[in-house]
Amino acid sequence: MSKNSCELCCARCSAELMPGKGDFYMVKIEALADPSPPDFSEDDLARDHKAEIERLMEQMGDLSERELFDQIYRRLVLYMCGPCYRQWIENPVG
Ligand SMILES: [Zn+2]
Repeated sequence: MSKNSCELCCARCSAELMPGKGDFYMVKIEALADPSPPDFSEDDLARDHKAEIERLMEQMGDLSERELFDQIYRRLVLYMCGPCYRQWIENPVG
C-alpha cells in the first residue's frame, strides 16, 4: 500500500483508518522552543541589550518569518492505528 492511497492513514504503518470505529488515535504534538522566561542576572539587567538584540535580528534577517516561526513553534496532528499508538506512546521519543 502506498503512503497516500487512503484518506486517513496511520502515520507509522500507513494502514487505512476508519473514522467512527474507534480503532485509531489522534495525537496532537505542540512544540514550543524554551518557554521559560530568560534568566537575567542583575548585571545583565544593568547592561544595554539594544546592540545585542540588533545583532541577533540581523543574523536572522536571512530567514523568512515562516521559517523563524517554525523554529519557535510547531504543531502537528498525527493519526495512528491502535497497535502503532500503543507502541509509540510507551516510547514517544525513541
Ligand atoms: Zn499503524
